[in-house]
Amino acid sequence: MPSSTRATTATPGTPAREFPLFGALPTEIRLAIWRQCLPNRIVELDIPEANICNGPVRTLCKLFFTTRQNRAPPAITRVCREARAVALEHGCEFDSSSLSSRSGGDQDWEDFEAPNLVVGPWFQPGRDIAHLHWSDFYDGYFYMDQTGDPVPFLQAVAAKGAGASIMAELLYRFDDDEFSEHLAACLSTDTLEFLPRCRDYLVTITMVNIHVPYDNGLRSGLFGLLGDEPIQLVDPSDSAAITAFHNLWAEHGCQGDVDVAGFFDVALGSDKTLTRRIQQWCKHLEKLWVWHEWIELKDDEGFPTDDEIWLPPMAQEGSGNAAPLPELSSLWKVDIRIRDHNMGNWWVAKVVANMPTFRPRIMFRLCGKQCYEE
Ligand SMILES: [Zn+2]
Repeated sequence: MPSSTRATTATPGTPAREFPLFGALPTEIRLAIWRQCLPNRIVELDIPEANICNGPVRTLCKLFFTTRQNRAPPAITRVCREARAVALEHGCEFDSSSLSSRSGGDQDWEDFEAPNLVVGPWFQPGRDIAHLHWSDFYDGYFYMDQTGDPVPFLQAVAAKGAGASIMAELLYRFDDDEFSEHLAACLSTDTLEFLPRCRDYLVTITMVNIHVPYDNGLRSGLFGLLGDEPIQLVDPSDSAAITAFHNLWAEHGCQGDVDVAGFFDVALGSDKTLTRRIQQWCKHLEKLWVWHEWIELKDDEGFPTDDEIWLPPMAQEGSGNAAPLPELSSLWKVDIRIRDHNMGNWWVAKVVANMPTFRPRIMFRLCGKQCYEE
């Protein structure tokens, strides 16, 4: 066998680091291997602002370094002509003019334009998940003179991709333990009108920035096969995955990121605090959804009475000694802090059944910069 076609340069018992026979494989096998190397990305449509979307885990991360990595063409575009051709077959720089018709039926939408939009992110139709960081908080922060509505824009991109992903702030923030008045205001009327057009959303309840050298992030395999998926959405019930991110951070990360440490303490703690808080968040979201629908219809003729829709007030814990709840604006009509929706009522059951599915996720982001030192 000529030396150039030797199968491996590894010594017995050591993993091979080279495979010189790759070029001798049949073309279809090589192409299948390149396809396996393509990333599955969470494609950001807009650049996140740490002061807004960071949820309960504060960070000094600038965030846009990760955004820049995440918008770049896949790693295999820089390997050889054949690999690049495979990448180009499956994706390209995103251009909103490639989206389907903007008129007709309830799919009307306009180009969403805002100063923090990501320009030309790499997008693989049918493969990538479209993610929107935007919430009402962004309007005030950027003093946006924006056009279009961001949620229908997200939906139009998600329809070409593999799904839609949003931030909890679009519904209501995750970091407030108590169900308070200002939280409900986050679920704006416009958002409520548009959200049901999509049946399923991933919802980032918190963002966790892992500051480790890129090489370590890449070799961990947690950010894609070739390290070109620097944004990951993880199911909060997947403790094995969260443990793996923790181990990477504990071994190579910046221990000065005390809030990241705090996140892992809560997420991996034996008392299931995170699970409990997520269950409460989901319950509150459902109640808010019902409330918004109810407030629109409650005065219609023949509509069920308030006491049919809302269960009797719950006793406050330790009500003998507890401070009274702050007064609620009369706009609320009922105090939903102490009244649950009645799932035994036909109308409530219908509203809940028609709600889109919101799946809580933790967003892990790989940042190889030392943002915390600046
Ligand atoms: Zn950073």
